[in-house]
Amino acid sequence: MPASSNRTDVVATDPVCGMTVEPAGNTPSAVHQGEAFYFCSSGCHVKFVAEPGRFVSGSRRPTQDAAVTSVNEV
Ligand SMILES: [Zn+2]
Repeated sequence: MPASSNRTDVVATDPVCGMTVEPAGNTPSAVHQGEAFYFCSSGCHVKFVAEPGRFVSGSRRPTQDAAVTSVNEV
């Protein structure tokens, strides 16, 4: 493989506002149900962390209740 592009060209989508985000060292990120999410700003990061199931709902298995329960226990 040519090593012409050694940088990570991974592009993520901010689940909160839908913006395209290029993850960098200072990019706000969170892991929800084993999946990493990146955010355009700390504001979106805070919103996601507060209610991750609200932004990740739909195609995933209904394990969000478990996540919510664990939050309540803490
Ligand atoms: Zn955003």
